[in-house]
Amino acid sequence: MTRVAIVGGGPGGLAAALFLGRRGHRVTLFERDGHRPGADLDADFFDWRRPGVPHAVQPHGLLAPVRTVLRAEASDVYRAMLRMGARERNELDWFAERPPARPGDEDLVTVQTRRIVLEAALHDAVRREPGVDARLGEPVEGLLVDRRGGLPRVTGVRTASGTYEADLVLDAGGRRSPVSGWLSEAGCRDAAAENHLVGIAYFCRWYRLRADGPRDPGRVKAGSVSAFAVGGVFPSDNGIFAASLTVSTADPTRAALRDPAVFERAARTFPAIAAWLALEPEPVSGVLAMGGLHNRWAAPADADGPVVTGLVGVGDSVAYTNPTMGQGVAMALWAAQWVAQHADTAPDPASFAAQYHRWLARALRPWFDAQVAADRANAAQLADPARVSAEPPTAAARERAALFACAHDDPMVMRARAKARHLVLTADQAYSTKEVRARLAHWLDAHPDFTPAYDGPARAEWESTLEPPSESAPEHTNSAVRTPE
Ligand SMILES: Cc1cc2nc3c(=O)[nH]c(=O)nc-3n(C[C@H](O)[C@H](O)[C@H](O)COP(=O)(O)OP(=O)(O)OC[C@H]3O[C@@H](n4cnc5c(N)ncnc54)[C@H](O)[C@@H]3O)c2cc1C
Repeated sequence: MTRVAIVGGGPGGLAAALFLGRRGHRVTLFERDGHRPGADLDADFFDWRRPGVPHAVQPHGLLAPVRTVLRAEASDVYRAMLRMGARERNELDWFAERPPARPGDEDLVTVQTRRIVLEAALHDAVRREPGVDARLGEPVEGLLVDRRGGLPRVTGVRTASGTYEADLVLDAGGRRSPVSGWLSEAGCRDAAAENHLVGIAYFCRWYRLRADGPRDPGRVKAGSVSAFAVGGVFPSDNGIFAASLTVSTADPTRAALRDPAVFERAARTFPAIAAWLALEPEPVSGVLAMGGLHNRWAAPADADGPVVTGLVGVGDSVAYTNPTMGQGVAMALWAAQWVAQHADTAPDPASFAAQYHRWLARALRPWFDAQVAADRANAAQLADPARVSAEPPTAAARERAALFACAHDDPMVMRARAKARHLVLTADQAYSTKEVRARLAHWLDAHPDFTPAYDGPARAEWESTLEPPSESAPEHTNSAVRTPE
Protein backbone atom coordinates (compact mmCIF):
# COMPACT_ATOMS: atom_id res chain seq x y z
CA MET A 1 0.00 0.00 0.00
CA THR A 2 1.47 3.32 -1.10
CA ARG A 3 0.49 6.62 0.56
CA VAL A 4 -0.29 9.17 -2.14
CA ALA A 5 -1.02 12.89 -1.77
CA ILE A 6 -2.59 14.60 -4.78
CA VAL A 7 -2.46 18.35 -5.46
CA GLY A 8 -5.60 19.23 -7.41
CA GLY A 9 -9.00 17.65 -8.02
CA GLY A 10 -9.67 18.27 -11.72
CA PRO A 11 -10.19 15.32 -14.08
CA GLY A 12 -6.53 14.23 -13.74
CA GLY A 13 -6.37 14.34 -9.94
CA LEU A 14 -9.80 12.82 -9.38
CA ALA A 15 -9.17 9.98 -11.83
CA ALA A 16 -5.77 9.23 -10.30
CA ALA A 17 -7.27 9.24 -6.79
CA LEU A 18 -10.00 6.83 -7.80
CA PHE A 19 -7.78 4.44 -9.76
CA LEU A 20 -5.22 4.39 -6.95
CA GLY A 21 -7.84 3.96 -4.21
CA ARG A 22 -9.35 1.02 -6.07
CA ARG A 23 -5.95 -0.67 -6.14
CA GLY A 24 -5.72 -0.46 -2.35
CA HIS A 25 -3.49 2.61 -2.02
CA ARG A 26 -4.20 5.27 0.59
CA VAL A 27 -4.90 8.58 -1.10
CA THR A 28 -5.40 12.12 0.20
CA LEU A 29 -6.58 14.52 -2.50
CA PHE A 30 -6.42 18.27 -1.90
CA GLU A 31 -8.57 20.55 -4.03
CA ARG A 32 -8.59 24.30 -3.63
CA ASP A 33 -12.27 24.69 -4.61
CA GLY A 34 -14.68 23.72 -1.84
CA HIS A 35 -17.64 22.77 -4.03
CA ARG A 36 -18.54 19.18 -4.94
CA PRO A 37 -20.49 19.24 -8.23
CA GLY A 38 -23.31 16.88 -9.10
CA ALA A 39 -26.53 18.10 -7.46
CA ASP A 40 -27.44 20.51 -10.29
CA LEU A 41 -25.33 20.15 -13.44
CA ASP A 42 -26.50 23.38 -15.05
CA ALA A 43 -25.78 25.47 -11.95
CA ASP A 44 -22.44 23.69 -11.51
CA PHE A 45 -21.53 24.36 -15.09
CA PHE A 46 -22.77 27.89 -15.66
CA ASP A 47 -22.70 29.48 -12.21
CA TRP A 48 -19.78 27.89 -10.32
CA ARG A 49 -17.03 30.54 -10.24
CA ARG A 50 -13.74 28.73 -10.88
CA PRO A 51 -11.07 31.36 -11.54
CA GLY A 52 -8.36 28.67 -11.39
CA VAL A 53 -10.04 26.58 -14.10
CA PRO A 54 -11.37 29.07 -16.67
CA HIS A 55 -11.47 26.41 -19.40
CA ALA A 56 -14.02 24.34 -17.47
CA VAL A 57 -16.86 26.19 -19.25
CA GLN A 58 -15.34 25.79 -22.70
CA PRO A 59 -16.72 22.98 -24.87
CA HIS A 60 -15.02 19.62 -24.50
CA GLY A 61 -15.19 16.55 -26.72
CA LEU A 62 -13.72 13.57 -24.91
CA LEU A 63 -11.57 11.41 -27.16
CA ALA A 64 -11.57 7.61 -27.26
CA PRO A 65 -8.91 7.08 -24.55
CA VAL A 66 -11.18 8.77 -22.00
CA ARG A 67 -13.84 6.15 -22.59
CA THR A 68 -11.37 3.28 -22.85
CA VAL A 69 -9.55 4.15 -19.62
CA LEU A 70 -12.76 4.80 -17.68
CA ARG A 71 -14.34 1.55 -18.84
CA ALA A 72 -11.21 -0.34 -17.76
CA GLU A 73 -10.64 1.41 -14.43
CA ALA A 74 -14.03 2.66 -13.29
CA SER A 75 -16.85 1.43 -15.51
CA ASP A 76 -19.36 2.66 -12.90
CA VAL A 77 -18.14 6.22 -13.53
CA TYR A 78 -18.59 5.81 -17.26
CA ARG A 79 -22.09 4.40 -16.83
CA ALA A 80 -22.95 7.28 -14.50
CA MET A 81 -21.85 9.75 -17.18
CA LEU A 82 -24.18 8.14 -19.69
CA ARG A 83 -27.00 8.23 -17.14
CA MET A 84 -26.30 11.94 -16.61
CA GLY A 85 -26.77 12.54 -20.31
CA ALA A 86 -23.35 12.08 -21.98
CA ARG A 87 -23.65 10.67 -25.52
CA GLU A 88 -21.43 8.37 -27.53
CA ARG A 89 -20.62 9.19 -31.12
CA ASN A 90 -18.68 6.66 -33.19
CA GLU A 91 -16.77 8.37 -36.02
CA LEU A 92 -18.06 5.77 -38.48
CA ASP A 93 -21.64 6.88 -37.69
CA TRP A 94 -21.04 9.53 -40.32
CA PHE A 95 -22.01 6.89 -42.89
CA ALA A 96 -25.69 6.04 -43.10
CA GLU A 97 -24.64 2.41 -43.30
CA ARG A 98 -21.73 1.31 -41.12
CA PRO A 99 -18.88 -0.20 -43.17
CA PRO A 100 -17.96 -3.83 -42.42
CA ALA A 101 -16.47 -3.78 -38.93
CA ARG A 102 -12.75 -4.06 -38.27
CA PRO A 103 -11.14 -4.67 -34.88
CA GLY A 104 -10.89 -1.41 -32.97
CA ASP A 105 -13.82 0.30 -34.76
CA GLU A 106 -15.91 0.00 -31.62
CA ASP A 107 -13.42 2.23 -29.77
CA LEU A 108 -13.41 5.18 -32.18
CA VAL A 109 -15.90 7.02 -30.03
CA THR A 110 -16.12 10.63 -28.90
CA VAL A 111 -17.96 11.12 -25.62
CA GLN A 112 -20.10 14.19 -26.19
CA THR A 113 -20.63 15.99 -22.92
CA ARG A 114 -19.87 19.08 -20.93
CA ARG A 115 -16.79 18.55 -18.80
CA ILE A 116 -18.85 18.94 -15.63
CA VAL A 117 -20.54 15.57 -16.24
CA LEU A 118 -17.16 13.81 -16.06
CA GLU A 119 -16.18 15.80 -12.99
CA ALA A 120 -19.48 15.12 -11.20
CA ALA A 121 -19.26 11.38 -11.89
CA LEU A 122 -15.65 11.23 -10.69
CA HIS A 123 -16.41 13.27 -7.56
CA ASP A 124 -19.28 10.96 -6.66
CA ALA A 125 -17.14 7.83 -7.05
CA VAL A 126 -14.23 9.38 -5.13
CA ARG A 127 -16.58 10.35 -2.30
CA ARG A 128 -17.64 6.72 -1.93
CA GLU A 129 -14.13 5.25 -2.17
CA PRO A 130 -13.02 4.21 1.34
CA GLY A 131 -9.28 4.56 0.62
CA VAL A 132 -9.58 8.14 -0.67
CA ASP A 133 -9.87 11.21 1.55
CA ALA A 134 -10.91 14.14 -0.69
CA ARG A 135 -10.21 17.38 1.14
CA LEU A 136 -12.17 19.96 -0.83
CA GLY A 137 -11.52 23.60 -0.04
CA GLU A 138 -8.04 22.78 1.30
CA PRO A 139 -5.33 24.10 -1.03
CA VAL A 140 -1.83 22.73 -0.86
CA GLU A 141 0.51 25.52 0.21
CA GLY A 142 3.89 23.86 -0.14
CA LEU A 143 5.86 20.65 -0.36
CA LEU A 144 7.84 18.71 2.24
CA VAL A 145 11.23 18.14 0.68
CA ASP A 146 14.14 16.01 1.85
CA ARG A 147 17.37 17.45 0.39
CA ARG A 148 19.84 15.10 2.02
CA GLY A 149 20.34 12.73 -0.94
CA GLY A 150 21.45 13.44 -4.52
CA LEU A 151 18.15 14.67 -5.92
CA PRO A 152 15.65 16.54 -3.77
CA ARG A 153 12.94 14.12 -2.70
CA VAL A 154 9.36 15.23 -2.03
CA THR A 155 7.99 13.47 1.04
CA GLY A 156 4.61 15.12 1.43
CA VAL A 157 2.60 18.33 1.26
CA ARG A 158 1.71 21.19 3.54
CA THR A 159 -1.69 22.83 3.88
CA ALA A 160 -3.14 25.36 6.33
CA SER A 161 -4.26 22.47 8.54
CA GLY A 162 -0.90 20.71 8.82
CA THR A 163 1.55 18.45 7.01
CA TYR A 164 0.81 15.20 5.22
CA GLU A 165 3.56 12.67 4.56
CA ALA A 166 3.34 10.54 1.44
CA ASP A 167 5.43 8.01 -0.51
CA LEU A 168 4.30 9.75 -3.69
CA VAL A 169 2.97 13.24 -4.40
CA LEU A 170 1.06 13.80 -7.61
CA ASP A 171 0.97 17.25 -9.14
CA ALA A 172 -2.49 17.43 -10.71
CA GLY A 173 -2.75 21.19 -10.22
CA GLY A 174 -3.43 21.92 -13.89
CA ARG A 175 -1.86 24.47 -16.20
CA ARG A 176 -1.51 27.00 -13.38
CA SER A 177 -0.07 24.55 -10.89
CA PRO A 178 2.19 26.20 -8.29
CA VAL A 179 4.30 23.05 -7.94
CA SER A 180 7.09 23.91 -10.41
CA GLY A 181 7.71 27.15 -8.45
CA TRP A 182 7.95 25.17 -5.22
CA LEU A 183 10.43 22.76 -6.80
CA SER A 184 12.68 25.67 -7.84
CA GLU A 185 12.49 27.06 -4.31
CA ALA A 186 13.46 23.62 -2.98
CA GLY A 187 16.65 23.74 -5.04
CA CYS A 188 15.70 21.40 -7.88
CA ARG A 189 17.56 21.79 -11.18
CA ASP A 190 15.57 24.01 -13.47
CA ALA A 191 13.62 21.85 -15.94
CA ALA A 192 12.71 24.70 -18.27
CA ALA A 193 9.17 24.29 -19.58
CA GLU A 194 8.69 24.33 -23.34
CA ASN A 195 6.07 26.84 -24.36
CA HIS A 196 4.70 27.30 -27.86
CA LEU A 197 2.08 29.99 -28.12
CA VAL A 198 -0.74 28.77 -30.36
CA GLY A 199 -1.94 32.27 -31.22
CA ILE A 200 -5.65 31.50 -31.27
CA ALA A 201 -8.58 32.79 -29.26
CA TYR A 202 -11.56 30.61 -28.45
CA PHE A 203 -15.13 31.93 -28.32
CA CYS A 204 -18.12 29.80 -27.53
CA ARG A 205 -21.76 30.13 -26.70
CA TRP A 206 -23.99 27.42 -25.23
CA TYR A 207 -27.47 26.56 -26.49
CA ARG A 208 -30.23 24.17 -25.47
CA LEU A 209 -32.19 22.34 -28.16
CA ARG A 210 -35.94 22.70 -28.01
CA ALA A 211 -37.51 19.79 -26.15
CA ASP A 212 -39.99 19.12 -28.96
CA GLY A 213 -37.45 19.45 -31.78
CA PRO A 214 -34.86 17.15 -33.36
CA ARG A 215 -31.73 16.19 -31.39
CA ASP A 216 -29.39 17.15 -34.22
CA PRO A 217 -29.57 18.55 -37.75
CA GLY A 218 -28.68 15.23 -39.40
CA ARG A 219 -25.63 14.58 -41.54
CA VAL A 220 -23.67 17.80 -41.04
CA LYS A 221 -19.90 18.07 -40.59
CA ALA A 222 -18.85 19.14 -37.11
CA GLY A 223 -16.71 22.01 -38.37
CA SER A 224 -16.39 24.60 -41.14
CA VAL A 225 -13.27 26.48 -42.07
CA SER A 226 -12.45 29.85 -43.60
CA ALA A 227 -9.03 31.33 -44.31
CA PHE A 228 -8.95 33.08 -40.95
CA ALA A 229 -11.38 31.28 -38.63
CA VAL A 230 -12.83 27.91 -37.73
CA GLY A 231 -16.43 27.39 -36.69
CA GLY A 232 -17.53 24.23 -34.95
CA VAL A 233 -20.26 22.60 -32.94
CA PHE A 234 -19.83 20.51 -29.80
CA PRO A 235 -22.96 18.46 -29.19
CA SER A 236 -23.04 17.69 -25.49
CA ASP A 237 -25.23 16.14 -22.81
CA ASN A 238 -28.95 16.74 -22.27
CA GLY A 239 -29.67 18.55 -25.52
CA ILE A 240 -27.01 21.18 -24.84
CA PHE A 241 -24.50 22.14 -27.49
CA ALA A 242 -21.82 24.77 -27.92
CA ALA A 243 -21.12 26.78 -31.04
CA SER A 244 -17.47 27.75 -31.14
CA LEU A 245 -15.39 30.17 -33.18
CA THR A 246 -11.62 30.16 -33.24
CA VAL A 247 -9.69 33.09 -34.66
CA SER A 248 -6.16 34.43 -34.52
CA THR A 249 -5.37 36.48 -31.42
CA ALA A 250 -4.09 39.10 -33.88
CA ASP A 251 -7.42 39.34 -35.69
CA PRO A 252 -8.77 42.88 -35.20
CA THR A 253 -12.38 41.66 -35.35
CA ARG A 254 -11.83 39.36 -32.38
CA ALA A 255 -13.06 41.67 -29.61
CA ALA A 256 -16.42 42.19 -31.32
CA LEU A 257 -17.22 38.49 -30.98
CA ARG A 258 -17.84 38.92 -27.26
CA ASP A 259 -21.18 40.49 -28.16
CA PRO A 260 -23.70 37.62 -28.34
CA ALA A 261 -25.53 39.16 -31.31
CA VAL A 262 -22.29 39.59 -33.29
CA PHE A 263 -21.13 36.13 -32.29
CA GLU A 264 -24.33 34.60 -33.51
CA ARG A 265 -24.33 36.41 -36.84
CA ALA A 266 -20.70 35.45 -37.40
CA ALA A 267 -21.36 31.86 -36.32
CA ARG A 268 -24.20 31.53 -38.82
CA THR A 269 -21.79 32.14 -41.70
CA PHE A 270 -20.27 28.70 -41.00
CA PRO A 271 -22.48 25.94 -42.44
CA ALA A 272 -21.62 23.56 -39.57
CA ILE A 273 -23.00 26.01 -37.01
CA ALA A 274 -25.80 27.40 -39.17
CA ALA A 275 -27.35 23.92 -39.41
CA TRP A 276 -27.58 23.70 -35.61
CA LEU A 277 -28.80 27.25 -35.10
CA ALA A 278 -31.52 26.56 -37.67
CA LEU A 279 -33.03 24.23 -35.05
CA GLU A 280 -33.88 27.41 -33.10
CA PRO A 281 -32.19 26.46 -29.86
CA GLU A 282 -32.41 28.61 -26.76
CA PRO A 283 -29.13 30.37 -25.89
CA VAL A 284 -28.17 29.52 -22.33
CA SER A 285 -24.94 31.48 -21.92
CA GLY A 286 -23.25 34.62 -23.01
CA VAL A 287 -20.12 34.41 -25.16
CA LEU A 288 -17.29 32.77 -23.25
CA ALA A 289 -13.84 33.75 -24.48
CA MET A 290 -10.41 32.31 -23.84
CA GLY A 291 -6.99 33.18 -25.20
CA GLY A 292 -3.40 32.68 -24.15
CA LEU A 293 -3.40 29.10 -25.37
CA HIS A 294 -0.15 27.17 -25.63
CA ASN A 295 1.33 23.81 -26.37
CA ARG A 296 3.27 23.37 -23.15
CA TRP A 297 5.56 20.61 -21.92
CA ALA A 298 6.48 21.07 -18.27
CA ALA A 299 7.47 17.66 -16.92
CA PRO A 300 9.96 18.04 -14.01
CA ALA A 301 12.77 16.35 -15.94
CA ASP A 302 15.58 17.43 -18.25
CA ALA A 303 18.04 15.65 -20.53
CA ASP A 304 19.66 14.06 -17.46
CA GLY A 305 16.37 12.65 -16.18
CA PRO A 306 13.97 13.67 -13.39
CA VAL A 307 14.94 16.75 -11.36
CA VAL A 308 13.04 15.50 -8.31
CA THR A 309 11.88 12.20 -6.87
CA GLY A 310 8.79 11.42 -4.82
CA LEU A 311 6.70 13.65 -7.10
CA VAL A 312 5.37 13.28 -10.63
CA GLY A 313 2.72 15.23 -12.52
CA VAL A 314 -0.43 14.14 -14.34
CA GLY A 315 -2.65 16.14 -16.65
CA ASP A 316 -2.11 19.73 -17.67
CA SER A 317 0.59 20.30 -15.06
CA VAL A 318 3.00 18.27 -17.22
CA ALA A 319 1.69 18.60 -20.76
CA TYR A 320 -1.05 20.29 -22.65
CA THR A 321 -1.71 20.83 -26.30
CA ASN A 322 -3.74 23.15 -28.50
CA PRO A 323 -7.26 22.61 -27.16
CA THR A 324 -8.80 22.52 -30.63
CA MET A 325 -7.53 18.93 -30.81
CA GLY A 326 -9.26 18.01 -27.53
CA GLN A 327 -6.45 15.79 -26.27
CA GLY A 328 -6.15 17.11 -22.70
CA VAL A 329 -8.44 14.83 -20.72
CA ALA A 330 -7.33 11.76 -22.67
CA MET A 331 -3.68 12.45 -21.82
CA ALA A 332 -4.58 13.17 -18.18
CA LEU A 333 -6.43 9.86 -17.84
CA TRP A 334 -3.67 7.88 -19.53
CA ALA A 335 -1.21 9.30 -17.00
CA ALA A 336 -3.56 8.64 -14.06
CA GLN A 337 -3.89 5.04 -15.20
CA TRP A 338 -0.13 4.59 -15.58
CA VAL A 339 0.51 5.95 -12.09
CA ALA A 340 -2.15 3.71 -10.56
CA GLN A 341 -0.81 0.65 -12.36
CA HIS A 342 2.74 1.31 -11.14
CA ALA A 343 2.17 2.87 -7.71
CA ASP A 344 3.34 -0.28 -5.93
CA THR A 345 6.86 0.64 -7.04
CA ALA A 346 6.63 4.28 -5.87
CA PRO A 347 8.40 3.61 -2.54
CA ASP A 348 11.58 3.35 -4.67
CA PRO A 349 11.24 7.01 -5.69
CA ALA A 350 14.25 7.37 -7.98
CA SER A 351 13.36 4.35 -10.06
CA PHE A 352 9.66 5.32 -10.13
CA ALA A 353 10.36 8.86 -11.33
CA ALA A 354 12.77 7.61 -14.01
CA GLN A 355 10.29 5.00 -15.24
CA TYR A 356 7.47 7.54 -15.34
CA HIS A 357 9.46 10.07 -17.33
CA ARG A 358 10.46 7.39 -19.83
CA TRP A 359 6.78 6.55 -20.20
CA LEU A 360 5.86 10.24 -20.65
CA ALA A 361 8.48 10.54 -23.40
CA ARG A 362 7.19 7.44 -25.15
CA ALA A 363 3.44 7.75 -24.66
CA LEU A 364 2.64 11.49 -24.53
CA ARG A 365 5.53 13.35 -26.07
CA PRO A 366 4.86 12.22 -29.68
CA TRP A 367 1.38 13.79 -29.55
CA PHE A 368 2.81 16.98 -28.14
CA ASP A 369 5.52 17.16 -30.83
CA ALA A 370 3.01 16.44 -33.59
CA GLN A 371 0.77 19.25 -32.35
CA VAL A 372 3.63 21.74 -32.16
CA ALA A 373 4.57 20.87 -35.76
CA ALA A 374 0.96 21.15 -36.96
CA ASP A 375 0.53 24.52 -35.25
CA ARG A 376 3.74 25.81 -36.80
CA ALA A 377 2.33 24.95 -40.19
CA ASN A 378 -0.93 26.77 -39.33
CA ALA A 379 0.87 29.82 -37.94
CA ALA A 380 1.67 31.22 -41.39
CA GLN A 381 -1.99 30.95 -42.35
CA LEU A 382 -3.11 32.62 -39.13
CA ALA A 383 -0.55 35.39 -39.46
CA ASP A 384 -1.47 36.33 -43.00
CA PRO A 385 -4.61 34.54 -44.21
CA ALA A 386 -5.09 36.83 -47.22
CA ARG A 387 -1.64 36.14 -48.62
CA VAL A 388 -1.77 32.41 -47.94
CA SER A 389 -5.20 31.93 -49.44
CA ALA A 390 -4.23 33.93 -52.53
CA GLU A 391 -1.32 31.57 -53.22
CA PRO A 392 -1.94 28.26 -54.99
CA PRO A 393 -2.11 25.48 -52.38
CA THR A 394 1.06 23.50 -51.82
CA ALA A 395 0.95 19.79 -52.68
CA ALA A 396 0.90 18.99 -48.96
CA ALA A 397 -2.02 21.35 -48.32
CA ARG A 398 -3.94 19.87 -51.26
CA GLU A 399 -3.35 16.37 -49.95
CA ARG A 400 -4.43 17.31 -46.42
CA ALA A 401 -7.62 18.83 -47.74
CA ALA A 402 -8.21 15.84 -50.03
CA LEU A 403 -7.81 13.44 -47.12
CA PHE A 404 -10.43 15.37 -45.18
CA ALA A 405 -12.88 15.43 -48.10
CA CYS A 406 -12.20 11.82 -49.03
CA ALA A 407 -12.72 10.64 -45.43
CA HIS A 408 -16.31 11.86 -45.61
CA ASP A 409 -16.88 9.72 -48.71
CA ASP A 410 -14.77 6.69 -47.93
CA PRO A 411 -15.08 4.72 -44.67
CA MET A 412 -11.51 3.35 -44.93
CA VAL A 413 -10.10 6.86 -44.94
CA MET A 414 -12.55 7.98 -42.25
CA ARG A 415 -11.29 5.09 -40.10
CA ALA A 416 -7.69 6.29 -40.58
CA ARG A 417 -8.71 9.84 -39.76
CA ALA A 418 -10.52 8.66 -36.63
CA LYS A 419 -7.44 6.72 -35.50
CA ALA A 420 -5.31 9.84 -35.86
CA ARG A 421 -7.88 12.00 -34.13
CA HIS A 422 -8.37 9.61 -31.22
CA LEU A 423 -4.65 9.10 -30.51
CA VAL A 424 -4.57 5.50 -31.75
CA LEU A 425 -2.01 6.23 -34.51
CA THR A 426 -0.09 9.33 -35.47
CA ALA A 427 -1.36 11.00 -38.63
CA ASP A 428 1.72 9.74 -40.49
CA GLN A 429 1.06 6.17 -39.41
CA ALA A 430 -2.66 6.35 -40.11
CA TYR A 431 -2.45 7.88 -43.58
CA SER A 432 0.64 6.14 -44.91
CA THR A 433 -0.80 2.64 -45.23
CA LYS A 434 -1.03 1.16 -48.71
CA GLU A 435 -4.79 0.89 -48.39
CA VAL A 436 -5.33 4.56 -47.47
CA ARG A 437 -2.88 5.76 -50.15
CA ALA A 438 -4.76 3.69 -52.75
CA ARG A 439 -8.18 4.94 -51.61
CA LEU A 440 -7.00 8.52 -51.73
CA ALA A 441 -5.47 8.09 -55.18
CA HIS A 442 -8.73 6.56 -56.37
CA TRP A 443 -10.73 9.46 -54.90
CA LEU A 444 -8.43 12.04 -56.52
CA ASP A 445 -8.81 10.26 -59.88
CA ALA A 446 -12.54 10.65 -59.50
CA HIS A 447 -12.13 14.36 -58.54
CA PRO A 448 -9.38 15.57 -60.91
CA ASP A 449 -10.25 19.25 -60.44
CA PHE A 450 -10.16 19.08 -56.66
CA THR A 451 -8.64 22.13 -55.00
CA PRO A 452 -8.93 22.93 -51.30
CA ALA A 453 -11.91 25.20 -50.71
CA TYR A 454 -13.25 26.86 -47.62
CA ASP A 455 -16.84 26.27 -46.62
CA GLY A 456 -16.69 29.13 -44.11
CA PRO A 457 -17.19 32.81 -44.98
CA ALA A 458 -14.97 35.04 -47.09
CA ARG A 459 -13.50 37.99 -45.22
CA ALA A 460 -15.98 40.55 -46.52
CA GLU A 461 -18.93 38.44 -45.41
CA TRP A 462 -17.34 37.91 -41.98
CA GLU A 463 -16.73 41.63 -41.51
CA SER A 464 -20.27 42.45 -42.55
CA THR A 465 -21.52 40.42 -39.58
CA LEU A 466 -19.85 42.82 -37.16
CA GLU A 467 -22.40 45.53 -37.95
CA PRO A 468 -26.09 45.18 -37.05
CA PRO A 469 -28.21 44.21 -40.09
CA SER A 470 -29.49 47.31 -41.89
CA GLU A 471 -33.15 46.23 -41.58
CA SER A 472 -32.63 46.58 -37.80
CA ALA A 473 -34.52 43.37 -37.13
CA PRO A 474 -34.61 42.76 -33.38
CA GLU A 475 -31.76 40.57 -32.24
CA HIS A 476 -32.66 37.35 -30.51
CA THR A 477 -32.54 38.04 -26.82
CA ASN A 478 -33.50 35.82 -23.97
CA SER A 479 -33.91 36.66 -20.34
CA ALA A 480 -32.51 33.26 -19.34
CA VAL A 481 -29.14 34.06 -20.91
CA ARG A 482 -26.43 33.94 -18.30
CA THR A 483 -23.52 36.24 -18.85
CA PRO A 484 -20.22 35.07 -17.40
CA GLU A 485 -18.62 37.29 -14.82
C1 LIG B 1 -10.36 26.21 -24.39
C2 LIG B 1 -10.09 24.80 -23.99
C3 LIG B 1 -10.80 23.74 -24.56
C4 LIG B 1 -10.50 22.42 -24.23
N1 LIG B 1 -11.17 21.41 -24.85
C5 LIG B 1 -10.86 20.12 -24.54
C6 LIG B 1 -11.54 19.04 -25.19
O1 LIG B 1 -12.36 19.24 -26.07
N2 LIG B 1 -11.20 17.78 -24.82
C7 LIG B 1 -10.25 17.52 -23.86
O2 LIG B 1 -10.00 16.36 -23.55
N3 LIG B 1 -9.60 18.53 -23.26
C8 LIG B 1 -9.87 19.81 -23.57
N4 LIG B 1 -9.22 20.82 -22.93
C9 LIG B 1 -8.18 20.49 -21.94
C10 LIG B 1 -8.72 19.97 -20.62
O3 LIG B 1 -9.67 20.85 -20.06
C11 LIG B 1 -7.55 19.80 -19.66
O4 LIG B 1 -6.60 18.99 -20.27
C12 LIG B 1 -8.00 19.20 -18.34
O5 LIG B 1 -8.64 20.20 -17.59
C13 LIG B 1 -6.82 18.69 -17.53
O6 LIG B 1 -7.25 18.37 -16.25
P1 LIG B 1 -6.30 18.56 -14.99
O7 LIG B 1 -6.96 17.79 -13.91
O8 LIG B 1 -4.90 18.27 -15.33
O9 LIG B 1 -6.31 20.12 -14.68
P2 LIG B 1 -7.49 21.11 -14.24
O10 LIG B 1 -8.78 20.70 -14.80
O11 LIG B 1 -6.99 22.48 -14.55
O12 LIG B 1 -7.59 20.93 -12.67
C14 LIG B 1 -6.57 21.36 -11.79
C15 LIG B 1 -7.18 21.46 -10.41
O13 LIG B 1 -6.14 21.72 -9.48
C16 LIG B 1 -6.63 22.61 -8.50
N5 LIG B 1 -5.46 23.24 -7.85
C17 LIG B 1 -4.53 24.05 -8.42
N6 LIG B 1 -3.61 24.41 -7.49
C18 LIG B 1 -3.96 23.79 -6.33
C19 LIG B 1 -3.40 23.76 -5.03
N7 LIG B 1 -2.30 24.43 -4.70
N8 LIG B 1 -4.02 23.00 -4.08
C20 LIG B 1 -5.14 22.30 -4.37
N9 LIG B 1 -5.72 22.33 -5.59
C21 LIG B 1 -5.14 23.05 -6.55
C22 LIG B 1 -7.51 23.58 -9.28
O14 LIG B 1 -8.45 24.22 -8.45
C23 LIG B 1 -8.17 22.61 -10.28
O15 LIG B 1 -9.39 22.13 -9.80
C24 LIG B 1 -9.49 22.15 -23.27
C25 LIG B 1 -8.79 23.19 -22.67
C26 LIG B 1 -9.05 24.51 -23.05
C27 LIG B 1 -8.23 25.59 -22.45
